[in-house]
This record gives sequence, structure tokens and C-alpha cells, in this order.
Amino acid sequence: MTLMTEEIARFFNKFNFKVFISIDGYKKAHDKTRKYHDGQGSFEDIIKGIEIYREYNQDYFIKGFQGTIENIDEFDLQEVYKMDKYGFIEARLAPNLLGVSRKDALKKARLVGRFLDLNPGNRLAATEVYFKNMTKLINKDDYSFFFNCKGLSSYPEISLYLDMTNWRVSHLCSYVPAASLPLEGLGHDIYNPILWKRTETFIEDRIDSLFKNCLECDLAAICRGGCIYTGLDKENTLNESACAYQRELWNIYIKKVYQTYDEE
Ligand code: SF4
Repeated sequence: MTLMTEEIARFFNKFNFKVFISIDGYKKAHDKTRKYHDGQGSFEDIIKGIEIYREYNQDYFIKGFQGTIENIDEFDLQEVYKMDKYGFIEARLAPNLLGVSRKDALKKARLVGRFLDLNPGNRLAATEVYFKNMTKLINKDDYSFFFNCKGLSSYPEISLYLDMTNWRVSHLCSYVPAASLPLEGLGHDIYNPILWKRTETFIEDRIDSLFKNCLECDLAAICRGGCIYTGLDKENTLNESACAYQRELWNIYIKKVYQTYDEE
């Protein structure tokens, strides 16, 4: 969005591109993590870019953003809700759990859990894909296993990933390098059986890892190993801090759901 021009905005409109943007919560938090080489934050440029983009893309207005929660001790939840002044009604903020301590992971879970209480009183809602998935799971007639994250589910129509910068393709989430292959080596055939085999191998490894690491866990049926950044990682090994995050957050969520049913 920092590179947005009228020409690009018109191009997106003409070819019906959907654009997703990243903002790490609000100006102060974002400018600490998303900086230019000279140390300046990129927030103001993003907002200017959005204004240009929206002028030519009224049908697809960018109503929300997603971003990362980094510095947990400084993060101010109320500031996220003030982002409605830029026309946003939705924010999805996922914590960075790579290389963080268990203590910080727990703090991040409690912070994300707080969104559940704050959302009803605000115009902007902070969403978390796990809660949405759980609602779907609860309402399913039968029980069947599916991964917490669409990107790991290997349905090509929703997760086919093509990296245009180095021409790699994958049927899984783009953050799983083990599942991708150079397009050239596949004869430019995205349905090449070699690619399917890659996908199959990764999924099988993940299932093995789920049995090994998560089967005894009381939250296994809902957490399901989480996504590769918040549970079992992209090598299918357990990230202890991310696992602690999942446990804490799911427990907050379950209590909240129970309380809501109780009130009703
Ligand atoms: S909370 Fe941890 S052990 Fe339990 S299912 Fe999730 S990742 Fe696995």
C-alpha cells in the first residue's frame, strides 16, 4: 500500500483484484515494526495509499486489515479500536510467537482473548480466525477432522499458492516451504502428481506429529495443532511457547462461550 498510485488503483479495479493490507494494530505499534531503511515508520504512507486505492475501488473498499502483535508490554488494545476513524470495521491481529518466551506467549493469548470482551462495545471488531473456525465446527452435524488453518487443508481451490517472484508453487500454505516446488521443474503444470506427492507427504508428517505431540492434550479436538505459527510449526515440531499460547487462548474462549450460553 506504500507504493499505491492512481494508475495501480485503476489497474486493480479493472482486473477485479482483491487487496489485503497489513497494519500492526495502530500507528505507534506499526511504526515500530514496519519501518523503511531510514527508520521512518510506514503508517502514514499506508493511509495515503488506501485513500487513493478507495477512490477507484468503491466495490472492494478494504474494510479491514491484518497485522502482527510484537511488543506485548507496550501494546494498547484501545488504540486498535480507534482505527475505525480510517474506515476500518475489522482487524485481525495475530501474535508473533517465534522465539518468544512462554511468559510472553501467555500474555499475548490474554491480550487476544480481551478482544472477545471489547468487540461488542466498538464499531471495529477484532477477529480471530480460530474463533470463527470453532463456531463452524460446533455447528457441524457430524464430526470430521479438518486442520485449523485453510492453508494446511490442501484443497487447491482455497490454498493453491504461487509465488510470482521465484515461481514456486504449492497446494498448501505459502509458509510451508517443504510443500512447494519450482514451477519449471513441474513443466508448469500445477496439477503435476509430484506436487500432489509433496502435499501428501507434508500432511502425513503433520498427522504423525499431531498423534505424537497433541493426542494426549485435552484441547486436541479444537486446537488441532493450530497453524504453523501457533502450535505445530512448519517442520511439524511443537513450538512450546506457541502451544502455551493456544492452550491459554482456547481456555479463555471456552469460558467465554460457556458464559454466553449461561447468560442466554
Ligand atoms: S494446545 Fe498444544 S498440544 Fe494441545 S493441540 Fe494445541 S498445539 Fe497440540
